[in-house]
Amino acid sequence: MTSSFSNLLLAEPLARAVAEMGYETMTPIQEQAIPVVLAGQDVMGAAQTGTGKTAAFSLPLLQRMLKHENASTSPARHPVRALVLLPTRELADQVAQQIKLYAKYTNLRSTVVFGGIDMKPQTLELKKGVEVLVATPGRLLDHIEAKNAVLNQVEYVVLDEADRMLDIGFLPDLQRILSYLPKQRTTLLFSATFSPEIKRLAGSYLQNPVTIEVARPNETASTVEQHFYSVADDDKRRALKQIVRQRGITQAFVFVNSKLGCARLARSLERDGLRTSALHGDKSQDERLKALAAFKAGEVDLLVCTDVAARGLDIKDVPAVFNFDIPFNAEDYVHRIGRTGRAGASGLAVSFASGGNDARLVADIEKLIKKKIELEPVEFEEDRPRGRINDGRRHWREEGESGDSRDVLDQPRERRDADSRRGGGRPHRAPSAPRDPFFDKPYEPGEPDATPAWEAAAKAATPTRGISSNIKPKRKVAALFKSAEPS
Ligand code: AMP
Repeated sequence: MTSSFSNLLLAEPLARAVAEMGYETMTPIQEQAIPVVLAGQDVMGAAQTGTGKTAAFSLPLLQRMLKHENASTSPARHPVRALVLLPTRELADQVAQQIKLYAKYTNLRSTVVFGGIDMKPQTLELKKGVEVLVATPGRLLDHIEAKNAVLNQVEYVVLDEADRMLDIGFLPDLQRILSYLPKQRTTLLFSATFSPEIKRLAGSYLQNPVTIEVARPNETASTVEQHFYSVADDDKRRALKQIVRQRGITQAFVFVNSKLGCARLARSLERDGLRTSALHGDKSQDERLKALAAFKAGEVDLLVCTDVAARGLDIKDVPAVFNFDIPFNAEDYVHRIGRTGRAGASGLAVSFASGGNDARLVADIEKLIKKKIELEPVEFEEDRPRGRINDGRRHWREEGESGDSRDVLDQPRERRDADSRRGGGRPHRAPSAPRDPFFDKPYEPGEPDATPAWEAAAKAATPTRGISSNIKPKRKVAALFKSAEPS
């Protein structure tokens, strides 16, 4: 059962922002968490990115903070009242952007700070005063030490993606940050799993939390028929069309790993006569809404999308899901195929594995869903020789369009670096736009104990934990004298 935002009695500026976002009904986490946060209770929520959890915590927090809202230009009138901590800069940025949208008709200010970029613009924002501060732990400590961020008036803390923060090794940083905060506060913790470490963290920092669990992650519905086909990149499109035809599939989601691949595949399927729309991060809100409306109205058969663009879509049940690319992150496989076979209906999930890295990615999925995966061959109905069309240009286009949709530039940086070190099978093109590739890469869980590359770089540049390379450490004069003494 889903209920409408209008039942919540949100303050007018927040309700207006929500309406503008086009949300109609609440997602399960919103339905459960918003009333609890509005009532001022601590929350321990099991929910992942893509469930609508940002709105689930930020709307009630903004509503509660409205009593402090003021239009004064004095920074003192805008102390940090809500602190949202996230493990990575792309998540921090994503959450901060959403909070800005929800707060846009209020006088509540928000900003985001994360490592890997210059501290100065962040410092200027902090000095102006902000009610909501979104941050990654390492960079926040830098700002605390530089006295740019004062946290003694914080009333609300959100530990988002807490399991990943612990995986990355942020526990000591979190403990330090939490020690700066007033004891009297509301604390919300969100995590994909409730491991013993997460429970310990919650036990130390949450008071009588209400536990909210929206979906058990890492499980696939038994009503979904899952197939993995071994198919060359260049044959994936043909395989997809054949399966759609043979199975009489009326509508499907087709997942790809990159925005560029998404646009290309949608274009070529459209040219093949399939009614197709693309949904990816470069599409405007208006274009996305139109694509969705057309799909819902049955005017479009295939919705080709990236994981990020598909998150939060209120299309929950489609007859089939294709993984045109095996997702980089096994959990995304579970999310993707969770779109089919709902509520007892039968669904079909078809995944195409080509060579290279796919074997490892499939093994990751196997481990996560705890099911043996058999790779099946695709038996093509009509085995036409490839490149039959004589026109060289047409032939080139066909090859290019149907090729690997994971464009080199859209792959995670480490993967690209590894490819180029090995001599790489794929051409390495110069970026056409000065865009930070971090924001294009799909969600990736942290390796246990792995420090994000940007934080590692900052650490390497400075011997003092928590001080970024942008802050010059004070010279330790006494230590210098001491070292000059004979021991
Ligand atoms: P999150 O899990 O917070 O990252 O949200 C994932 C996506 O879902 C975001 O793009 C939100 O804009 C969208 N979203 C959040 N709540 C809703 C809702 N009630 N209805 C539709 N979309 C939503």
